[in-house]
Amino acid sequence: MSHHRQGTEFELIMRHFAPLSTAAAGAYGLADDAASLAVPTGHELIVTKDMMAAGVHFFADDPAETLGRKILRVNLSDLAAMGATPRAYALGLALPADTPPGWLEEFAAGLADDQARFGVTLIGGDTIRAPGALTLSLTAFGEIPQGRALRRSGAQTGDGIYVSGTIGDAALGLLAAEDGLATLPPAERSALISRYRLPQPRSELGKRLIGRASAAIDISDGLVADLGHVCAASNVGARIEVDLVPLSGAARAACATDSELLVRVLSGGDDYELLITAAPGAADELGAAARGADVTLTRIGTIVEGPEIRVLAIDGEEMKFESAGYAHF
Ligand code: ADP
Ligand code: MG
Repeated sequence: MSHHRQGTEFELIMRHFAPLSTAAAGAYGLADDAASLAVPTGHELIVTKDMMAAGVHFFADDPAETLGRKILRVNLSDLAAMGATPRAYALGLALPADTPPGWLEEFAAGLADDQARFGVTLIGGDTIRAPGALTLSLTAFGEIPQGRALRRSGAQTGDGIYVSGTIGDAALGLLAAEDGLATLPPAERSALISRYRLPQPRSELGKRLIGRASAAIDISDGLVADLGHVCAASNVGARIEVDLVPLSGAARAACATDSELLVRVLSGGDDYELLITAAPGAADELGAAARGADVTLTRIGTIVEGPEIRVLAIDGEEMKFESAGYAHF
């Protein structure tokens, strides 16, 4: 349907996106029909795609620069959860007719900055004008030594359960972005909002966990739900202790204003931290991996015989979760 295409579409791609592809010879400057991606001997590709639509996954007036970073970072988080080293990505854009001219420029600037930060290169994509909501789609490619991908299915009874970073900031940040948490000091509110807007993919940690973690997942649907995914795939259960779950200062301050927020911390999504399991003997190696990646890794519980996932509050009472995480449909 290229005869229907606006004459400017090609120019837009050349102006904003071709400069993001120059580090990959196989991108052919985004001027051919498809890209080529070589994989080093003894390695395999890990492939993932995430989509985000305005009104569903972000606010239509969120800064374009942040949206570019976020669609890239959520995909890099999936690669990290597999232990893969990010290499390249392809981009799909459905743009409403009224997309302001500066939007693509800002969007590409965010991508350019994060490409350098995470060592990935744009290798292709597709751009359409469509009447619906602004929609972003990104496919990321990572590489990993053959057969070494971290799977959800490897957790064993007796393994420790660990999470990277801090939990719940993004869910609280979403609340703050929607004008909630009004009594929280501005610095803490904006710290939470920026964690919702801009996840930190644990790419360096992920690759250091190869051969050390027995199972891994990134926390996108919420701690309890994603732990549930690992347990279901591994055919085990879990026991976690709430007072071991690492919280940021801002999240602690928020929970101090309203104890009900703890449920949101444990079941909200969008943290993009890694949740892993590892055999008891791996604790020292995990510590070294976390130090090497400059990320904290905190033990929050233990894998037990299945299928129950028990979340124990400080008083030893079991917490119950009506909806364990974000339901997509
Ligand atoms: P075709 O109609 O043959 O699919 P396109 O105009 O869609 O051709 O794409 C031309 C080139 O531009 C391809 O190399 C494609 O990968 C690239 N491209 C198109 N849109 C994007 C985008 N949003 N990001 C990166 N590359 C893109
Ligand atoms: Mg195309």
